[in-house]
Amino acid sequence: MAGRDLHVIRKISTIFAQAPNPREGLHQILDLLLQHVKADAAAVFVPAEKGGGLALFAASGKLIPGLSSTFTVSAERGLTGHVFQNREAVVTHTPHRLPHFDLRDTSWAENPGGVMILPLTAGGRTVAVLTFNRAGRTPFGSAQTAFAETVSAPLGIYADLARTTRDSEIRAGDESGAAPQSMNGPVMLKGKAITQGVVRGRAILLQERDALDSVPVEYAADKAREGELLQRALLLAKEDTLQLQKEAAGILSEADVSIFYAHLLLLDDPLLHQRLQEALRNGFSLRFALRSVIESFTSDLQKLDNDMMRERLADVKDVILRIGQAAARISGKGKKNDTREKTGPARNPRRDRQIVVARELLPSQLIRLPLANLAGIICEQGGATSHVAILAKALHLPFLIGIPQACQRIHDGDDLILDCATSCVYVRPSEDIRKKFEHTLKYHAERDRGRREAVAPAATADHTPVRLMGNISLISELPLLERYGAMGIGLYRTEFMFMVRSAYPTEEEQYQVFRRIVEAGGANSVTIRVLDVGGDKALPYVDFGQESNSFLGWRGLRFLLSNLHYFEPHLRAILRATVHGRVNILLPMVADLDELQEAKAVIASARKSLEKAGHATAPYHLGIMLEVPSAVWCLPSMLPHIDFVSIGTNDLIQYTFAVDRGNTKVARWFRQLHPVVLGMIRQSCEAAAQQGKNVSLCGEMAGIPAALPLLLGAGLRTLSMNPWHIPVIRSLLGRLELPACRKLLDACLACASVSEVEHKVAAFAKTNRLRL
Ligand code: PEP
Ligand code: MG
Repeated sequence: MAGRDLHVIRKISTIFAQAPNPREGLHQILDLLLQHVKADAAAVFVPAEKGGGLALFAASGKLIPGLSSTFTVSAERGLTGHVFQNREAVVTHTPHRLPHFDLRDTSWAENPGGVMILPLTAGGRTVAVLTFNRAGRTPFGSAQTAFAETVSAPLGIYADLARTTRDSEIRAGDESGAAPQSMNGPVMLKGKAITQGVVRGRAILLQERDALDSVPVEYAADKAREGELLQRALLLAKEDTLQLQKEAAGILSEADVSIFYAHLLLLDDPLLHQRLQEALRNGFSLRFALRSVIESFTSDLQKLDNDMMRERLADVKDVILRIGQAAARISGKGKKNDTREKTGPARNPRRDRQIVVARELLPSQLIRLPLANLAGIICEQGGATSHVAILAKALHLPFLIGIPQACQRIHDGDDLILDCATSCVYVRPSEDIRKKFEHTLKYHAERDRGRREAVAPAATADHTPVRLMGNISLISELPLLERYGAMGIGLYRTEFMFMVRSAYPTEEEQYQVFRRIVEAGGANSVTIRVLDVGGDKALPYVDFGQESNSFLGWRGLRFLLSNLHYFEPHLRAILRATVHGRVNILLPMVADLDELQEAKAVIASARKSLEKAGHATAPYHLGIMLEVPSAVWCLPSMLPHIDFVSIGTNDLIQYTFAVDRGNTKVARWFRQLHPVVLGMIRQSCEAAAQQGKNVSLCGEMAGIPAALPLLLGAGLRTLSMNPWHIPVIRSLLGRLELPACRKLLDACLACASVSEVEHKVAAFAKTNRLRL
């Protein structure tokens, strides 16, 4: 079996294990199979509940417009019926020539052509028929048939399960329960959330106006002229990229804008030029050459094991499309691409909030969307570390990826509720669902409007000030600090600046970014965490090698101590920024005193080298993240050597309970309110207080209302969180009194399980009439 086949089988197994319900899983599998066997449409037919035929149960690909959920084929006649009765596969590119052929065998597909029809069996019965349609006359190959036959065995059991499972979730609000995805009723689709937020808006389907994947094989009338066209198109594409960069600079930070700088480098990439010229030498038109080069890069990059590198494919496509658009303009066949035209006010006179739905969104398309009305994004494809994901984060747009067939299942103008908290989108939501979200949507809308209470320092009901600070990763997030009333930056995660670039930024480049961040802090302190890469945060230009457990490998401080050529310039850049404000330097993933001492020695030498070079530095505070459990136990020995500690509950919980913080399969074991976690937090606060050192908490827990009384009870007076959470935490703070919080924590520390803690917190909320 080919490696690609195994890859698809692995994906199918994951769907079996993780799909929110078998019906949705079946759709996802059809999407995968469709691509893998290179079909244009695929469908599963199951025995109809009434009438004796085979009813369309799930479908994918190019289906006839408006395909009805009641579409059936005969269970006795036609090729589909024949396969169902005789359990024999039929594979042919000329189905109409076979004696059993019936028009309904292919009439569900948009472009009827060759077919591969397979029986799906379970427990010795035929339970369904799986059918693929391929437009044109190219036959399905034997490898594709063998692959489809291999997966049909487990698929039979799964299809049977899907058929017999009453699926209330996916058909939210609809009682009929048995329609395929082309329906017009309410549907819930599951994807993967890349950012945060809950929004409601109208769907705007982004058309792939300039897609090159359907360009037919074309030959150039004049090879020399086509070569000349390429050179002119490259120049024009560069101008367009510079223009894009300018537009992006108006809304993003320079770290984010560097994405378009990377596009400029790509336009000069010798490999890109070589492949394009080779295709032109072979006599192809430039349009076809561009298409074939996208395909060759796709195949190269998809083989890579590194998600981040694979996700750079979107940039390659973006750049190649730009060359294509430039060439079209030069030849007088196109105009400047601007996605705003497609989604502008003309199509949306009521100026509803819009949610863009696309197969794949490229960085330049996102920048040119009408951002003022844009509420969120839904894509069939994409990756968490792609540049589009980074831009969406910078623009604070809720963003869901990995929804197969989103462009078919969602129609232009559909009412959508996009919920990043559960990674779901509700399409044409029922009254019930709309009601369910009413409160949450209102809450998010208010927060978006920047409802900011007077920036008097936040305090408890009994007047103890609590410092609420912001966690940020990008310069473009700086305005949020003011908008939500953050008292400084409690955590600046530096890694994103390094992840978006194609080469390690120079000391000067880093310094310019740190300087802006520190200046933005004004009189408030800014905590710059030194680079915490490794684990799931790779750098495209660093070979981390094969690590069987990367979260326990070359990560955080250990990576830096092993790569002084990265660590030293990084420290120098941060130290140089100390003269522009109040800087705290935070070391990530420190496990014990030895590691801390080693890091301090490197900081001292970086400082010395700056002095020698005549660069000024100013005093700063040095702190460590408490996120490796051993550090909690070693804290008393480390405190004399540092000024502050910051508790990173995200990793602390991950490493304490051996539970991957990003893996949804084990999410329920990621127990933030567990008595063990609360105990570690209190122990750390007490140790820090004994030695007169500051302690803060910057993990996600800082923004969770239910955790707030417990954190206050433990002694925390500085919390750093995603700025969005600040208004809610601030108003809750004003309703809490410290003695009650301490009492609650004591009671929770005596609990044996997280559920006991949750009960105690719920009772506390009820007594004090709080929404926790
Ligand atoms: C943490 O681990 O809690 C933390 C704040 O760091 P990060 O989420 O960046 O790993
Ligand atoms: Mg961490």
